[in-house]
Amino acid sequence: MRALSTDLGQQRANTVYGGSPRRGVEFLVPALVVLLVVALVILALSVRHGRASNVTTLSDRRGDLSTAERVTVDSVTQYWLQAMPATYGRPFRELSGGYQPRTPSSPPWTCNGQRVTYNGIKGNAFYCGGTHDDYVAYDASFLFPQLNRIFGSVSPAVVLAHETGHAVQHRAGVQAPSIVIEMQADCFAGAWTRFAQRSSDDPVALTAGALDSSVAVMLTLRDQVGTPATNPQAHGLGFDRVNAYQTGYDHGAASCARFPRQPPPTTELPFHTLAEALTGGNLPYEQAVPLFDRSLNDFWKGAFPAVRPGATFRTPRAVPIPVAPLPACGGAAAPDRDVALHYCPEDNSIQWVDPLLRRLHVQLGDTATGTILSDGWGRAAQTQAGRPTSGRRAGLQRDCYTGAWLSTIANGKEPLLQLSPGDLDEALTTIVASSFRPGAEEQSSRGGAFERTDALRSGVLGGISACH
Ligand SMILES: [Zn+2]
Repeated sequence: MRALSTDLGQQRANTVYGGSPRRGVEFLVPALVVLLVVALVILALSVRHGRASNVTTLSDRRGDLSTAERVTVDSVTQYWLQAMPATYGRPFRELSGGYQPRTPSSPPWTCNGQRVTYNGIKGNAFYCGGTHDDYVAYDASFLFPQLNRIFGSVSPAVVLAHETGHAVQHRAGVQAPSIVIEMQADCFAGAWTRFAQRSSDDPVALTAGALDSSVAVMLTLRDQVGTPATNPQAHGLGFDRVNAYQTGYDHGAASCARFPRQPPPTTELPFHTLAEALTGGNLPYEQAVPLFDRSLNDFWKGAFPAVRPGATFRTPRAVPIPVAPLPACGGAAAPDRDVALHYCPEDNSIQWVDPLLRRLHVQLGDTATGTILSDGWGRAAQTQAGRPTSGRRAGLQRDCYTGAWLSTIANGKEPLLQLSPGDLDEALTTIVASSFRPGAEEQSSRGGAFERTDALRSGVLGGISACH
């Protein structure tokens, strides 16, 4: 974020916060899962893959890599044999050069006459299409085992589906800027994911955790922050890639085919100033919190009538708590130590564990702080509107509210703040990280990463009216 009015922050930091803590409804951001990568590494502990004779289940757990690769290629091919005629009105030819795993001991090979060695593909995968070439090559020594270990057996599948999307583009003669080509391949990967999940004929089944993990993979395979969308090498920020992937999942390959004519929105922005580039676009915690407080109050004053027509939003009091756990509120028991923030209806206050939020701010960026604070304001709005605050639907609605708040900043309707590159990805990462609960087989009661990022995206793209 970038502050457009910097003196405001300090003044409010000294005067607004303080007061008696009370009970509230909880918002879980377990301390253990503040870092996406850490969370996912912890998650990927055990090995599991399908037992059914012809169907292999891909999941967020590590699986047998060669099996995952084989069944994915079968399933993706099966998908395009039916989707290519439906989408582009022509049959799908299978890749004449197939799918080629590459390792350090692979002899050099060629792509369009150019010599390629393992070092040229290390940490990567690509499709090579040309007069004599039609194959997908991938780093089978480092990239795929790493993805499998961190994000589970679904992650190499998502990469293979993306690369096959490039083969489809080559066959269909798609012409578009690099960023659109990449987002379309992500969209095709999403369309295949839906097919694999739904179809009972193909050899792949997906767990709910696999869907959540696929979003995390998209978020990881993103551009370096600050790359403008016009950069010829641009692959898209996490937000744009997740958006494209979910578009394909929701609406199928035909929606992806429209991208060259109607490109999806891209949110990549270059840094505004050198100072911003040096800080990575992150405001210091002390400055960010009061600005978010003010900004969220302004947002809800305007947005509340959309939640409860004719009503006025009562500004909640913001109360940082210096040591965990949060104090009890009203008659209820004190929350667990890992509850980072809650809303207390008794005195209309939002309370949070200050050191926990500060740590998150440093680890994930300033919009992580904004995302968590926004959840508190969302709870205040839901409570004041007489809406439920607990359960999956209420949680998804608050993620949508957060997206709507960020969209007012992105659209320049917010006088205090301006979005920096990477801010939307910080919001996504915060949501993805807090959706993964180490050791928990089932999704969190708030909904998984796929649903939650979808809700955030609805708010970013559609504003508050998209949240009801
Ligand atoms: Zn690509």
